[in-house]
Amino acid sequence: MTVPHNNLRFTSNHLTNINGSQGIVPEKSAPSGISVLVIGAGVAGLMASLECWRKGHEVRVIEKSATRILSGNFTIGPTAIRAVQQWPDMAEENERIADSPWISWHKINGERISGPEPLRFNPTVNSSGQVEAPHRVYRHSRPAFHKMLSDQAERIGIIVEYGKRVTGYYEVDDKAGVTLENGERIESDMVIAADGIGSKSSTVTMGRELRARSSGWAMYRAAFPVELAMVDPLVRERFQLLEDGTSVMELWMGNGQHVVFGRSEETMTWAMTYADDRDETESWSKLTDPKTVLKMTATIPGWPEVADRVIKRTPLDRLHDFKLMWREPQPCWASPNGRVVQIGDAAHTFLPSSGSGATQGIEDAVSIAACLGLAGKDNVPWASKVHNKLRFERVVCLQKLGIVNQESRYRSVNSKNVSQSKSKGLLATWIWRHDPERYAVENYEKVLAHLVEGVPFANTNIPPGHVYKPWTIDDLLGAKERGEEIELDGNWD
Ligand SMILES: Cc1cc2nc3c(=O)[nH]c(=O)nc-3n(C[C@H](O)[C@H](O)[C@H](O)COP(=O)(O)OP(=O)(O)OC[C@H]3O[C@@H](n4cnc5c(N)ncnc54)[C@H](O)[C@@H]3O)c2cc1C
Repeated sequence: MTVPHNNLRFTSNHLTNINGSQGIVPEKSAPSGISVLVIGAGVAGLMASLECWRKGHEVRVIEKSATRILSGNFTIGPTAIRAVQQWPDMAEENERIADSPWISWHKINGERISGPEPLRFNPTVNSSGQVEAPHRVYRHSRPAFHKMLSDQAERIGIIVEYGKRVTGYYEVDDKAGVTLENGERIESDMVIAADGIGSKSSTVTMGRELRARSSGWAMYRAAFPVELAMVDPLVRERFQLLEDGTSVMELWMGNGQHVVFGRSEETMTWAMTYADDRDETESWSKLTDPKTVLKMTATIPGWPEVADRVIKRTPLDRLHDFKLMWREPQPCWASPNGRVVQIGDAAHTFLPSSGSGATQGIEDAVSIAACLGLAGKDNVPWASKVHNKLRFERVVCLQKLGIVNQESRYRSVNSKNVSQSKSKGLLATWIWRHDPERYAVENYEKVLAHLVEGVPFANTNIPPGHVYKPWTIDDLLGAKERGEEIELDGNWD
């Protein structure tokens, strides 16, 4: 079965200005005179281009794909949503396109453990004595979210240059640059490498190529029109919207597996992790057949018929087989001269179950644009160094949390440990309350004094009481293998 593809394709001809106007834009800083070249038009690169524009920098964006096909859904955290809301047109569009499903937790045989319930962030009390927490979780269609960013960029005159592949990065004294496949070189005051997990930029930031490695897991994932699934009476009965039309999401765990089913008014989604040791790289476009998935589900004890029916209803052109790759946390995101800086997946990788990769990419984008504004044209290199110091420990905490949560999900199967099967810490105040722009403004000078004069500086955008100690993925997996708890010092919840 195939259905017409409504995934979005972005090409150099894709122009969406509102009657040729900018729409409503946020207040823009005075021109900084800093030229910024952004490599990669993913979520992080597009947000960096917008935020650099807002801070008065000159922006150019290049992207290797001539046509980009995106699919699936992701959750965008409150810190990133607040960044989007700085842009009036996007604030409106974001509310229109986001979904806020209620979640329920299940054993791998589909039996419900708890829920459905709305995801609630851990509230705090603000200075006026009011309890504060974001009122909703934003679940987005990846193509729709990407289109929102891309349309906003076009409205302010940032036209992504598609079909240009970067083959190398370099920096000279007061410039950085990239070489394209055709030999062309492009230079600017700062190059932001937002080219994802396979970024070539580590040859300048780390002095060597950093290769992503298999996480040992892959993921089948699909999103398709809900009516195709609802044709089946068993599926229709099982996956119902709440009475008021709210979407539902079921998380199934156990047997070393993590499965998600989502049903909204328009879309049926499902995703399933599986152990995988193929020697391949990540690809957004690799498709597979429902029959392949059904062969695997046939080996899962207690796996119910209704889940197989959803898989069977999945159109052939909507079932993706996505290999999950990761890299060790690496503390150095800036080149020696500070003219090249990595953001998003180019700087750090997350497991999808962390629900953090895109959110952290957006936080990076806001932070580097703000740091560049604070540094000014004469001090561009310090912007990347300060940004790196402000961001690394926070990101590495979230990476650790993702691995801890994934491992505990796989091991928790019975109804007595519901809390263990729920994600630890992901709704914590230290995560959702952070404002990367304000954090940069409040701490830029302090970090500069730390880097230049050695004045002590401690980040406050991490779990209270936590002291960062370097770790590797193998350290964490080894500890889990030996049945040891991974140490989370400080207050992660
Ligand atoms: C199944 C799945 C579910 C996920 N769920 C969530 C979630 O719920 N919440 C969340 O926050 N995150 C989630 N993530 C993570 C999130 O999708 C990524 O972290 C995020 O998309 C990374 O964005 P990016 O812009 O850094 O990189 P990418 O999206 O990879 O973009 C990089 C861009 O650079 C371009 N590029 C690459 N190489 C070159 C080159 N040589 N020259 C020019 N351009 C180049 C690419 O074509 C691409 O457009 C999920 C990931 C997966 C796989």
